[in-house]
Amino acid sequence: MIARVAPLIAGNWKMNGVRSALEEVDRLRMLVEAGEPPRGDIALFPPATLLAAVSARLEGSVIATGGQDCHQATGGAHTGDISAPMLADAGARYVILGHSERRAEHGETDQLVRAKALAALGSGLIPIVCVGETAEEREAGRVEEVVARQLLDSMPATIDIEEFVIAYEPVWAIGNGRTPTLDEIAAVHATIRWLLVQRFQDQGEVIRILYGGSLKPSNAAEILSVPEVNGGLVGGASLLSDEFYDIISAL
Ligand code: PEP
Repeated sequence: MIARVAPLIAGNWKMNGVRSALEEVDRLRMLVEAGEPPRGDIALFPPATLLAAVSARLEGSVIATGGQDCHQATGGAHTGDISAPMLADAGARYVILGHSERRAEHGETDQLVRAKALAALGSGLIPIVCVGETAEEREAGRVEEVVARQLLDSMPATIDIEEFVIAYEPVWAIGNGRTPTLDEIAAVHATIRWLLVQRFQDQGEVIRILYGGSLKPSNAAEILSVPEVNGGLVGGASLLSDEFYDIISAL
């Protein structure tokens, strides 16, 4: 199957960055505007404390912003949480949901991720729902089963399909330089595409499926050209604009 949507390169800063990091944002904007028009969409996901400032710095550019999580409610007594309308108000276009670090450190379930996705869509945000197996699950031959369950249970039953993104992120490949082989990536992405088409018919073909996990300038070109890889979710390599721009240029 051939993806008919523009790829997306998303940079997840995680819990990194204070105001001095805005210089990296300015540099990224300069690099993107000075170079060839990017062959896809670009988005940065700074920590919530910087979201409004980063969105303001990128206003009028082709680089969008997003939140790293949102609460499933639109507001109320939820100390420390951030709602989807708040992210939208801070300039976000996207929100990452169900990242493996949230699933592991905050006990987020597929059902909770689905509720958050509905809240995000209700505020006009595009959810990027993360799925991916642990090393133990891969060793036990359970990759397809785990990814299918996370995918189907974390996605709402009906959605505006062009406003939804999936990120396949094998947990064991995050932040450590290890990546699956290209064939392994291709196999999981093909499974995800098949599941999306089963569930949403033709529309399932235009949902972007990103790969994430130790994506860097040296492996970006080959990973981003794997069939059904419609872009990347980048962690560590998104913190420095030059490195992130090299990945964008690999599209
Ligand atoms: C991530 O956590 O989403 C990620 C892909 O991290 P890294 O690129 O650092 O492996």
